[in-house]
Amino acid sequence: MRIKQSRIKKINPIGTTCKKAIYNSLIDAEDSIAYLQETKFVKDLSAYKCSVCGFWHLTSK
Ligand SMILES: [Zn+2]
Repeated sequence: MRIKQSRIKKINPIGTTCKKAIYNSLIDAEDSIAYLQETKFVKDLSAYKCSVCGFWHLTSK
């Protein structure tokens, strides 16, 4: 009996090598930046598109 249910996790759909949080789009990333800046008082966060996984990551300067 093969049940795939146990594989349902919050993992990236693509087997990305990136350990960072990924965002599907710049909008998602910027959304997250706004949230983090409000809640954690982080500053100088910016989003960049990763050439490895093709998704967006956040980086601090
Ligand atoms: Zn990446």
